[in-house]
Amino acid sequence: MAERSRIIGIDLGTTNTVVAHVRNRIPKVVPSERGNLVIPSMVALASSGDLLVGGPARDQAVTNPRNTVSGAKRLIGRPFESLAVQELKSALPYEIVPGPDGAAAVKLGERVLTLPEVSSHVLAHAKKVSELSLGGLVTEAVITVPAWYNDNQRSAVKEAGRLAGLEVKRILNEPTAAALAYGFNRKLRKKVLVYDLGGGTFDVSVLQLDNNVFEVLATGGDTFLGGVDFDRRVAEHVVRVFEQLEGMGLSTSPVARQRIQFAAESAKMDLSVIPNVMLELPFITERRGKPVDLRVPLTRDQLNALTQDLVDRTFAIVDGVLAQKGIRRQEIDEVLLVGGQSRMPLVQQAITAHFGKPPRKGVHPDECVALGAALFADSLGALDAVTLLDALFMPIGYAQPSGAFKAVLERNLPIPGARSFRLPPPRESDPAEISLELFQGDAQRAGDNEFLGRLVLPASAAGQKVELRVDAEGLLTVTVGEGANARAHQLSTRDTPEAVRRTLADRDARKAGEPRVAPAPEPGLLSSLKKMFGRG
Ligand code: AMP
Repeated sequence: MAERSRIIGIDLGTTNTVVAHVRNRIPKVVPSERGNLVIPSMVALASSGDLLVGGPARDQAVTNPRNTVSGAKRLIGRPFESLAVQELKSALPYEIVPGPDGAAAVKLGERVLTLPEVSSHVLAHAKKVSELSLGGLVTEAVITVPAWYNDNQRSAVKEAGRLAGLEVKRILNEPTAAALAYGFNRKLRKKVLVYDLGGGTFDVSVLQLDNNVFEVLATGGDTFLGGVDFDRRVAEHVVRVFEQLEGMGLSTSPVARQRIQFAAESAKMDLSVIPNVMLELPFITERRGKPVDLRVPLTRDQLNALTQDLVDRTFAIVDGVLAQKGIRRQEIDEVLLVGGQSRMPLVQQAITAHFGKPPRKGVHPDECVALGAALFADSLGALDAVTLLDALFMPIGYAQPSGAFKAVLERNLPIPGARSFRLPPPRESDPAEISLELFQGDAQRAGDNEFLGRLVLPASAAGQKVELRVDAEGLLTVTVGEGANARAHQLSTRDTPEAVRRTLADRDARKAGEPRVAPAPEPGLLSSLKKMFGRG
């Protein structure tokens, strides 16, 4: 009998996590302790003081929204003060606080958990479920992340894996995993487009498959477009109709909101299969001490009208990604669907209309990423089994003294890959050290991009060569100097708001000695610091 593999593939999703494993060359999803194919990516602190993970956490989410964390994937690896976190803060029912290192963290009861800790509970659960199902220790994993994840986010997922007791053999991009699930060992030569509409984000990638060489040609997406936006449209509609029918406002209590949101999501999913549904929520509010129920009908046509513009937005992004490399729609041989929201009939009709052919059937949108990760994990021992050629999703560069962003690694740069630049030559007025702030994004102002970290160099580094290198996992290394003097540097992203405030204050005090490769951490951070100190 073949030796049992102890490595798993994990699709750590916004909404759900899927685990897969290859046995005798066949990848299969590992069922959860409840026999489901997905584990809800949720962690909760129950009133009993127990930490709940997966299904049990989801079960009590309606009654315990403050202490139930979902959507950690949108927060992990982001500074608390980043625009993304500040925007999510008001939309999420649980409390987001600054962690010890300035990163976003969550507060459950009196406990503050970092996001890698939250995700590590989900990953540890995935590990436990696999061990029960496979009958042995599981110590290694390949974990997938969105193609657009930056260096901080990738590192944070690796850290989560470590905390869960897993050796993360590789961080793999989700669209590449989906393409692997479709094309691995099938001797195909095709251009495929991966259309991934998940719970929170939309991603699109075009890959060239040539036997077991998987090359990403172009990639793009929107990190704030996904199933939850569809749910929100339905929920808003339901509240409007209820208010018209009942002539009264609907309570904005977190429990009522959470119930309506869950009902909206269920209705939306049911409408993928049946043409009309009734949303029913008994005792949603009360009038003069008497319970009032919510009963609102919804048809698929209504759902389509409420969300057509969201679907249209995905195709504007698809066209933009194809245009990056001058690829015509007709050149796409197959469209692969990933993400639960791609099950919506409106999405599938739109794909058929856009590409003149229906999306590929037989690649399961919820499972293919985990299956691809498991296939890749299984192939790791075999030399040259698979070649992955990836591309950089977003430019990486530094902030210039004016605050403008200077890209060094361009979008779609094949990775692994590197580019270098020179620090300006030394000048009389130089400060004692050079501070280099690195960002990732395509905005012209550095502060509008994602802050990756700061590199503090001695003044003697002026004029030296700096190389930015992204490895196969999308992780960044910065090397300063040349030849025997070249030294790899760690980026410090551990700046707490206080530390950044001190740096800014120092710089203000030093007016004349403004560093030449300089300012701006996060835009949100800067503006909140300015507000805090009454400047600007
Ligand atoms: P994922 O992040 O891939 O797990 O996708 C989860 C999203 O897919 C959630 O917003 C779900 O509401 C949505 N979803 C799951 N199944 C369906 C379905 N049958 N029809 C429409 N949306 C769905």
